[in-house]
This record gives sequence, C-alpha cells and structure tokens, in this order.
Amino acid sequence: MRLAKIALPVPLPHALTYQVPDKLAATCVHGARVVCAMGSRRLIGVVLEVYEGEPEPGFKTRPVAEVLDGGSLPEELVAFLREVSSYYLAPIGEVVRLALPPQEREATESLTTTASLFDKPKGVATRMVAYAEPTTSSAPDEEAKLTGAARGLLAKLRAVGKTPVARLTEEWSTARNILKKLESLGVVALVKDEAVQDPFFAEPLPRDEEKDLTAPQKEAERVLTEALVSGESRPYLLHGVTGSGKTEVYMRAIGVAKGLGKSTILMVPEIALTPQLVSRFRARFGDGVAVLHSGLTPKERLRMWRSLRKGEVDVAIGARSALFAPLENVGLVIVDEEHDSSFKQEEGVRYHARDMALLRAHRASAVCVLGTATPSLESEHLARTGKLVRLSLPERARAQALPKMHVVDLRHIGAGPTGDKRISLPLHRAIEKNLAAGGQTILFLNRRGFAPALRCQACGTVASCPNCSVALTFHKAKGAIMRCHTCDHEEPLQSNCVKCKSRDVALEGLGTEKLEETLAAAFPTARIARLDRDVAGGKDAEKVLAKVRAREVDILVGTQMVTKGHDLPEVTLVGVIAADAALTMPDFRASERAFQLLVQVAGRAGRGDTAGEVYVQTYDPKHVSLLFGVRHDTMGFVAAELENRRELGYPPFSRVVLVRVDAVDEDVAKLAALELAGLARRAAGEAVYVLGPAPSPLARVRNRHRFQIMLRSADRASLRASALAVVRGIPSLPRTVRAHVDVDPVQML
Ligand code: ADP
Ligand code: ZN
Ligand code: ZN
Repeated sequence: MRLAKIALPVPLPHALTYQVPDKLAATCVHGARVVCAMGSRRLIGVVLEVYEGEPEPGFKTRPVAEVLDGGSLPEELVAFLREVSSYYLAPIGEVVRLALPPQEREATESLTTTASLFDKPKGVATRMVAYAEPTTSSAPDEEAKLTGAARGLLAKLRAVGKTPVARLTEEWSTARNILKKLESLGVVALVKDEAVQDPFFAEPLPRDEEKDLTAPQKEAERVLTEALVSGESRPYLLHGVTGSGKTEVYMRAIGVAKGLGKSTILMVPEIALTPQLVSRFRARFGDGVAVLHSGLTPKERLRMWRSLRKGEVDVAIGARSALFAPLENVGLVIVDEEHDSSFKQEEGVRYHARDMALLRAHRASAVCVLGTATPSLESEHLARTGKLVRLSLPERARAQALPKMHVVDLRHIGAGPTGDKRISLPLHRAIEKNLAAGGQTILFLNRRGFAPALRCQACGTVASCPNCSVALTFHKAKGAIMRCHTCDHEEPLQSNCVKCKSRDVALEGLGTEKLEETLAAAFPTARIARLDRDVAGGKDAEKVLAKVRAREVDILVGTQMVTKGHDLPEVTLVGVIAADAALTMPDFRASERAFQLLVQVAGRAGRGDTAGEVYVQTYDPKHVSLLFGVRHDTMGFVAAELENRRELGYPPFSRVVLVRVDAVDEDVAKLAALELAGLARRAAGEAVYVLGPAPSPLARVRNRHRFQIMLRSADRASLRASALAVVRGIPSLPRTVRAHVDVDPVQML
C-alpha cells in the first residue's frame, strides 16, 4: 500500500499517515499540497514523505482526498521547514503552513471545497493592458542603426523582461513609436495581458541610475560575485554606515545571481514602510521581482506564489515571511537591517527570520548577506569568530559626513519657549533655525498617544488597564479616551482617582500626539505631520512619507516608524526627545536596542547635500549606548557590550529558551509554571541554568496571569534536552493553562 506522511496544521509534533489512492499516485509526491480529512474537517497540508508499507495495526488510515494544483513545494524548502520545526521545537504542521500560499494557510476549519480558492473571484473584472516583451532574436545590424533612446529601451527590456508599455512611456515619451519599430525588427513582441493590481506596482518608478560604485562598494560587489559564481555557500555581514549604499550592493549581487540563473530572497523589516526601497528594485529589475506584503488581494498573493513557484519571477522581496518563498534554485538570501527585531515572529511558530536565513542559505548552498549599520550582537559575534565574513562600507556613498551630534543633558538644561522640558531650549533653537533655512526636521519619540499616564496627585496611583498590568495612555485625537497599548481596552477619561477618589488627577508625560500639538502652537507656520501606529497603518504610512519626500512637511513627529531606513535627503535635523526611554526595558538587550535606535534615527539626517545635525536629549548622558552612539562608534559599542554579555553569560555567549505560562487564575498559572520548571531542571543536568518561575515583567495581560521560566546554557544539546522536556510536559497541564517555549527569544516580556 502506498502511504504518505503529511504535515497538517494541527498542534501535534509529528506528521500523520494517510493512504495514497491509485488515482493520486502520480501527483501526491514529496512536497505536494494536499487536502486531507481529519475528523469532520478538511485540512490542507504538505506531503513530507511517500513510501510503500502497511498502516499501523489498529489505526484506520484514511486516503488523501485531493492534491492541489499549482505546484508542490521545492524539495529544499521542505527539508528546510523540517529543520525549522526541529530547531524551534514547533509542530511540523504549523511550520509547513508558513510556506503555503496565504489563503491556504487560513483555509482550515471551514474548508469544504478548495476549488473556489483558485477560481477568479466572481465580479472582479480583470483589466487587460499592453506589455512589451523581448524576443529571443536579435538583429545586430539594424540595432546598430537605432536611436540612442531605442537602444536604451531595448537594453532595458532585455534586462528586465516583460514590462507594461505604460511604464516604458514614463521613461521614454516616444516609447510607443520605438516599440513599433522594435516589433518590426522582430526583437520585441507586443502582447496583451492582465493588469497587475498590486498597489506596489501602481506607483510610477524612480529613474534607475546605475551609479559608479565607491571603492568599498566595489570590493563588496567583487567578493559577492566571486562567491555567487563559485557556488560556495558563505555568509556575509555587510556592515555599512547609514547611507553608505548597501542597497546598491544588494542590487548588484541580485543582478549577478540572475545572470547565473539563481533566485534571490530579500527580506526587509516591515515592508509596508518601505515601498520606496522596493521601487528602487523594481526600477532596476522590472517585474522580475515579487513583492510579498499584506496589502495584496488573496488573488494577487496566489498569483505571486505561483509565479515564484514556476520560476517566472526569481526575486522575492518581503518581510520575514519571504523566508519561505517557494523559489527553486535559491542562490542569494539577503536580510536588510538584520538587527531589526521585527524579523522575530512573536506568535505561533516563534522563528527568527535572520537566523533561519543563514540556515536556508547554507542548506541551499546559497550566499547569505546580512546588511546593517548597527550589527546585532549575535551577528557581530559570528563575524568576530569567523562564521560571517565582514564586508565594510565605512563611509556614506555620496561622501556626506555623518551628522553632527549634540547631547542635551536634561538634568541641567531647561525648557525652551514652549515651557515643556521635553523641547529643550537648544532643540527649540535648532528647529527654529532649520525651519528658517528651509530644511526638514524629524523628531523621534518612542511613545504614541497624548500622555502616557494619568496619576493621582493625592495618592500617586496611576490609572491602569483593568485587564493588564499596564498604565493606560491618554489619547486626545480619538475623543479623549484612555487606551491600553497591550490589549486595546478603551475607557473614558476618569476625573477621579480609582483608589482614593481624589479629583486631583493629572496627565503625565509626553506622547507623539501632544508633541505634535505643542509644536504646532510653537511653530504656527510650520507644516507638521505625525507618523505612528495611530495615524498610519500600512499604506497610510507611505502617504505620510510621500508627503515628506514631496517637501510638503517641515516637521515629522513619530515613533520607531520614522527610524526605519528611509532615504529622505532633505532631512537636515533630527531630534531624539527622550533617549533613555529604550533603556528602561527589563531586557538584557536594552542597551543594544537603545544604541541601534539612536544610530538609526540619527542616520536619517543629512543624507542629501546639506550636512545633518542631531540633538539627543537625555537624563543619563553617561550611558554607554549614548556615549558610543553620539560618536557613531559602532565597533566601540559592540566591543563594550559583548564584554558585558560575556561576563553575565548572556547571548551570544549562551543560548536562552523562555517558557511562558499563563492562565486566568494566578495560582493555576503559577503551579503549572512550577511543574514545567521542575521538568526543565530534571532534564537539564549541570550545564543548564534554570531561572524561575517568576511573574513575567508584564504580569497580567488580557486578564491572564503570566509566569516565565528562563533556561540558559552555552551547551546547545543540554539546553535542547531541557526545553524538549518542557514541550513534552505541556499537554499534561490543565486545559485552562496556556504555555509555550520561545527558543532564542527577543521579547523578554
Ligand atoms: P544604505 O542602504 O546603506 O543606508 P542607500 O543604499 O539608501 O544606503 O544609499 C544612500 C544614498 O546614496 C541613496 O540616495 C543612493 O542612491 C546613493 N548612492 C548609493 N551608492 C552610490 C554611489 N556609488 N554613488 C552615488 N550615490 C550613491
Ligand atoms: Zn488617588
Ligand atoms: Zn490592557
């Protein structure tokens, strides 16, 4: 009997056995996407193994119901998924799901028929548009006689392949005439096809200019080209200061990979914030890139998935999920801004896309490039121990100096004319001066909302969320409400203290909303915009950034969203309102994060022709993150911080597994945590340090009490054994308890 091991999206650690009916024998192969019945449900899964054998006695082995068309997963990808599952101790069925086309990922319970997933949604009319496509023939004699524009257009088509005619007319006003000529020579074909509805593809593209590389860029290009050509799997750390032209290096490497017939995965943090970056790739490579992002319609996503699978498109750009792109023949895996914590998935399968990028590249014999201005200590450690080859871009590409940094010690320096200490006099004057000079300003504040707390002046109580151990933030723009940033609970602003009923309550602290309001009053003629999660999810963020680029904004106020790699050449002043905020997190990475944030936000200044200035306000000017940050001294910081981590035995000198346990009843949660800690300790041996259980720093969320246990060891095998004991123990906990393990956790809450 032919049997198949199938990974189905159920929380079981192993794959399930199904029978392969004769009529599906040809299609139900390794990697195939299949539909299987499980109880009364029909689930989509992936075939891990097909073999001849007998089913286990006593079990009724059901047949595979259906094989989905559109392609099986590449063998390399399936093998990779199995390793991800094993590394993170995560059920294989849930890991495999990460690689399925998105709507198949979601289609589980209600699925009765799968056919509808692949049909065109009814009522959606597809618009047909004209495309130009290079043919395989050339006509050297006639081509030599063409005008410069015609030769340029033909070269572009040959480089990027099929392109909408409308796009070509953006670059060459006479494109239509040129194309007719090229068609008559037989070197170009004009065809009609469905218009692409992807919003990323709708925008006009910037003009792509291949730049003369700087010497360090050239060297990086040379090394990566050599690695790609030799087919040797080698990982690299592309360490380049902000504005050093890392993107150009990525593009050159992708070009080389394409030339060798190899495909590329490029991961960027938060794709919704980076359409500008994406459009640079599309300007270079045309529609030969697939951009995976949440703004796509289900149909678009499926179309992308399929064209990647078929190899019609050989570059996948996306956030962390691009890691699982169904590309064959992966030759290059790039992680841009590798230090960014958004590469860590914080729910479901808690994988780190940067770490797994190294693994997928290694297994696929591909070249891996981790790019950043502020290497994570993990990557830095790998570079220092020779496991990553460092490529340095020590200077900005257009020879601009790094911005001049000023530290404002808030302990001694007072408020400017607004009376608010968070806009100190030096910062106020700098904004004034920059406005007068016509420059743009970015002000960074890591707190959204109006005021982060409402405190009783009589007894000191802070208004907190009824469901979480978190203070409520006052939001003014949304109608004077108090909101919890953890569970989104909202309530009206109270005029009495909940505890002592005093009416003497006051808003405390500064959020982006209030900062915007205060600035508007202080600089009435300035055009001010705000960028944070309250005004901008996804596409709206890009609208704000587009306005900044169009110079319709003088001052941009925002949270981390303003720090993320944007290339805004007219920004000449950056203000960091409260540099200490990131340091108060209960997390061994707090200093690292504060440093990265500071360097990244400062890196937004002075990317154009005018030098930039940065004002950093702090109550703790002697903190290492700040001392090194204001000198742009990344190597100095990592050296100091690595030493610190080594002494404390923290990653990258050890590995950590965090076990999180929660339940509505505090005692139930605590008992369960004790139980798991016991299992961890018994399996741990000497080499693993088991800490806890202790209440989580966020002790209550959504009405559930949370405890955590930290396992830490420099010995990978012992740590794994201990974590595995915990995983095996979880199913025996009371059903009201939720627990999971987080391998290499990033969020320590
Ligand atoms: P990074 O990703 O390292 O922050 P970018 O790739 O965004 O830097 O480059 C910063 C700016 O420098 C961009 O405007 C880019 O077009 C420009 N640039 C990159 N390489 C060169 C070069 N070799 N010559 C001139 N300008 C360049
Ligand atoms: Zn009170
Ligand atoms: Zn809450």
